[in-house]
Amino acid sequence: MIVRTRFAPSPTGFLHIGGARTALFSWAYAKKYHGKFILRIEDTDVERSTPAAVQAIMDGMQWLGLDYDEGPFYQMQRMDTYKKVLQTMLDAGTAYYCYCSKEELEILRESQMQQGLKPRYDRRWRPEAGKSLPSIPHNISPVVRFKNPQTGVVTWDDLVKGRIEIANAEMDDLIIARADGTPTYNFCVVVDDWEMGITQVIRGDDHVNNTPRQINMLNALGATIPQYAHLSMILGDDGQKLSKRHGAVSVMQYHDDGYLPEAVLNYLARLGWSHGDAEIFNMQQFCEWFDLDHITPSAAQFNTEKLNWLNAHYIKEANIDELASDIAIRLAKTGVEVKLQPKLQDVLGLYRERANNLNQLARDIAYFYALPQANVVDVEKYITDDILPQLITLKKKLADFDWGRDDGGAVDVGMLISNMVRDSNNLTYPKIAMPLRVMLTGTTQSPNIDAVMRILGKTETLARMEKYLNQKKQ
Ligand code: GLU
Repeated sequence: MIVRTRFAPSPTGFLHIGGARTALFSWAYAKKYHGKFILRIEDTDVERSTPAAVQAIMDGMQWLGLDYDEGPFYQMQRMDTYKKVLQTMLDAGTAYYCYCSKEELEILRESQMQQGLKPRYDRRWRPEAGKSLPSIPHNISPVVRFKNPQTGVVTWDDLVKGRIEIANAEMDDLIIARADGTPTYNFCVVVDDWEMGITQVIRGDDHVNNTPRQINMLNALGATIPQYAHLSMILGDDGQKLSKRHGAVSVMQYHDDGYLPEAVLNYLARLGWSHGDAEIFNMQQFCEWFDLDHITPSAAQFNTEKLNWLNAHYIKEANIDELASDIAIRLAKTGVEVKLQPKLQDVLGLYRERANNLNQLARDIAYFYALPQANVVDVEKYITDDILPQLITLKKKLADFDWGRDDGGAVDVGMLISNMVRDSNNLTYPKIAMPLRVMLTGTTQSPNIDAVMRILGKTETLARMEKYLNQKKQ
C-alpha cells in the first residue's frame, strides 16, 4: 500500500503554528514511507475563504520547505465530483431529500428543548421500509441528508488517541448538501479523502467529532477507511490555548521575527513528538525517525526559549552565503545598505556564534555599514581625559603600522595593543579596549576588539577613532 497523506487547510487565515505542525507531520509521514503528500485547499466556506489566505498558506509551506507531490486541489473546483457522488448516494438510498422548512426545524428544536431533550433532527423524511413519508411541499428546495446508521457504534484506533468509540444513536442524519445544491464540509472531506486515496488522515483534534460521521459516509460509499491521527492542540508559553495574544501566530511571522525555517521545523517536530532525547535534528533525520506512535496525546506547550536555543544552533550552522543574503535583506529593511567591504560573510563569521535571532544579529552588525552613534554616557565613561593620550598614541601606531594582508593583520593589530599594555605601567587591556569599542562599534559589547578592527579595516578604524579624538581635543 502506498502511503498518501494530505494537508487540507481552510484558507480563512494564515498558516499558523498548529497548521504548520499538522502539515509537517503529514509531509514527514509520506516522506518516510516514500508515499505522496497532497495539498488540498478546503475553500468551500466562500464567505471566509480568500485568495490572500491561500497565498499565505502556500508562502508558509514554501518557507518551511514542505513541498507537496500533488495539488493544490481546490474544493470549489471539484463541485461536479461532489454532485456526482451525491447522486450516487441518493440512488443507492444512503442519502435522502429532506423538505423540512426552517420554521419546522425551529419548532422541532423548541419543543425538544422544552422537553429537556437534546435538539436533533427527528428523521421525518428518512425513508424506511413500511414508513410513509409526508407529501412533498412545492415551495421548498430540499436539502440532502446522509442516512446515518441508527444502531451500533463507530470505532477507530486513533494513531494518537487510541481506540475511540461513538454510538450511532448519538449522531444525526447530517445535511450533506444544502438547499441550493452545494455540498457541505464533512461530505467534501469524505469524497476527497476517498477519491484521493488518502491512507492516513493526520489532522488537529478539533476534528475528532467529525470522524465517526466521515467513517459512516465512507462505509456507505464502500470506501476503504483511512487511519486517523488526531493531533492535540498547542498551548502558548503560558499554558493557555495558542492565540493571537501570543504574538507570532502566523508561520511567516516567525520569519519576520528573525527565525530560520530550520529552527522552526526542528522546533515543531518536537512539539508533541519525540525520539528518545534527541533535540537537534534536520528534516532528513526527522523523516527517517518520524512515526505516529510517539506523538503525545496531551497538549503540547510552546516554549519560546527552546525555539531561540534551536535558532541559535541553526544560525551557527547556516551556510554563510545564505545567511549573508538573509541578513543583507534584514539590514536593508532598516535602511542599512551592505557594502562590499567589509565582507558581510566575515562580519557574520565574527558574530553568529553569539546570536539567537536574525534580526538581533542584523542590528548587532549594522555598525559595520552605518556609522554608529555611541551614547553620551558611554563616551564620557570610557573615553576619559585619562586615557586620551594613550588613545592618541595608539591611533598613531595604528596609522604607521602596516596592517598587512587582510587575513594576517588582525594578529598584529591585537599584538600592537597587547604590546602597548605590556610596555605601559598603568594601562590594562580593558581600559584601552572599552573606549575603542565605543568608538568603533558605538556599543560597549562586541567580540574581541582586534577582530572587529581587522574586519573594519585600517582606514575605517582610523576614521572612527579620529571622530571621537577630535571631539575630545576641542
Ligand atoms: N479544513 C480543515 C481545517 O482547516 C481540515 C480538515 C481535515 O484535515 O480533515 O481545519
